[in-house]
Amino acid sequence: MVIDLKKIFVNDNSSLPIEYELDMSSVDFRGVVPLKAPVKFSGTVSNKASLVALQAEISYTYTAPCDRCGLETGEEVKVKLDKALAASIEGEESESIILVPDMKLDLDELIYSEVVLSIPTKHLCNENCKGICSKCGKNLNEGKCGCPEKEIDPRMQALADLLK
Ligand SMILES: [Zn+2]
Ligand SMILES: [Zn+2]
Repeated sequence: MVIDLKKIFVNDNSSLPIEYELDMSSVDFRGVVPLKAPVKFSGTVSNKASLVALQAEISYTYTAPCDRCGLETGEEVKVKLDKALAASIEGEESESIILVPDMKLDLDELIYSEVVLSIPTKHLCNENCKGICSKCGKNLNEGKCGCPEKEIDPRMQALADLLK
């Protein structure tokens, strides 16, 4: 959706609330499609003393297999946005300014890029997930598997964890 913000840009003290949902259920991240429900956007564009700003929250549920045990797990992600909007930028571009050529905001593009930036890089069903046994494949969250436990040098274990 592209939003025409001309009315906001030319009228001091005006504001426009925006509620929107974007379907990203077909977007693939590292081999999974984690955004099964639409991404929600809720915010306001306002003009205060000729400064146009966007304050918004993007929220979505990231559903993917746990990094350790593979259990499909949902995780709630919220991104807060507080940005200035400018129809043109003089000088250097900045992270806190969104450029809106012709005073039109491409909301899909904005949501898309904020979601990509905020996608969790680490995803666990539970912080204490024990993972699966590397020998027999049993989910160790459900109990011990009976494979002989080896004493592992903790330094080697740290290395093994890094390599996962
Ligand atoms: Zn897990
Ligand atoms: Zn085992």
